[in-house]
Amino acid sequence: MPIYLDGHSTTPLAPEAMEAMAPWWHAQVGNPHSPHLNGMLASQAVENARSELASLIGSDPQELVFTSGATEANNIAIRGVALAALEGGIGRRDIVVSAIEHKSVLSSASSLRSAGFRVIEAPVDVNGVVDVPALERLVGAETLLVSVMAVNNEVGSIQPLGDVVRIARAAGALVHVDAAQGLGKLPVPCADFDFVSLSSHKLYGPMGIGALFISSAAQLRPLPVLFGGGQEGGIRPGTVPTPLVVGFGAAAKVSRKQLAADAAHADALSALFLKELRSRQVLFLENVPGPQRVPGSLSLRFPGNDAMSIIARAGDRIAISEGSACTSGQITASHVLLAMGFTHQQAAETVRLYFSRYNTDADAIDAAGVLSEIVSR
Ligand code: PMP
Repeated sequence: MPIYLDGHSTTPLAPEAMEAMAPWWHAQVGNPHSPHLNGMLASQAVENARSELASLIGSDPQELVFTSGATEANNIAIRGVALAALEGGIGRRDIVVSAIEHKSVLSSASSLRSAGFRVIEAPVDVNGVVDVPALERLVGAETLLVSVMAVNNEVGSIQPLGDVVRIARAAGALVHVDAAQGLGKLPVPCADFDFVSLSSHKLYGPMGIGALFISSAAQLRPLPVLFGGGQEGGIRPGTVPTPLVVGFGAAAKVSRKQLAADAAHADALSALFLKELRSRQVLFLENVPGPQRVPGSLSLRFPGNDAMSIIARAGDRIAISEGSACTSGQITASHVLLAMGFTHQQAAETVRLYFSRYNTDADAIDAAGVLSEIVSR
């Protein structure tokens, strides 16, 4: 298998999570909403996992709603809050998002235009960090919600959430943070925010599970966007998937203990990789400088080399992603890189890498060797 360096897309499953999940598929199967012993045991396991996740983010377990992932959490936070404002007779109609949010935030917000909401995109600087003075100008008395991610998924830039909270609170607006890429990489102090979206498969947990933190202090609670059996306080109906939740909880437990060690490991590997690349006289540019990016994440541009062809040629040796998204057969430049001021060509020359907990020194050295063979100098 290729050396896996695509942890921004999904991280490998932690062995602890795999082990914790195993019995819940068969030996201890049970729907956590069933009244029999299997159901009660499953329900207890779900609540233990909720507590583990709550400990990682410093919340009350009851402030967490399990969802299928961060996409669903983002949809509930944004569309659910807008619905609550409409139903509650709250007149604010502006939703301010950063220009580099994940599509699940941008599209959820845009979908509200037909309901009379205005979506305002705050610009970012050349390092992919929200322009704080611009945000300050864009947030005001009409702002219902400000949504800014913790860490960008394409370039790894860390966002100034302290400023976001200060600006939103001064205007009386609610704050939503998509922390899918921040959880497990940085402390995510949920108590500062109203709503936070989380995803398990960026935290060495299984795919298909995530959560939305809804602060008990939030001025407005999102209304559900799906209807059904009333699970998860009615905010997210549907059978709670016990094995996935248990895996998410186990991953959160490991992450709480390992947060600092994981960050140091990821930082050391990305530094080793860069050193190796330089020593081989490879011409490349770092799109986001060290202090502004999350440990382990690299967004690199290889001038004169097309990212798609680098990825194709490296395919059986390293798994990395491009900085452009391939939509319906057409290559479109990443909205993130364009918002940072890159040209289409520069965006097309960008690859992203992420060194995870399970990568080794040898991975970093070998990956640099593969890239130096492939790219023209
Ligand atoms: N937000 C961000 C920042 C992400 O990176 C991702 C996943 N790429 C999502 C949301 C969507 O998460 P999920 O796959 O859990 O729906």
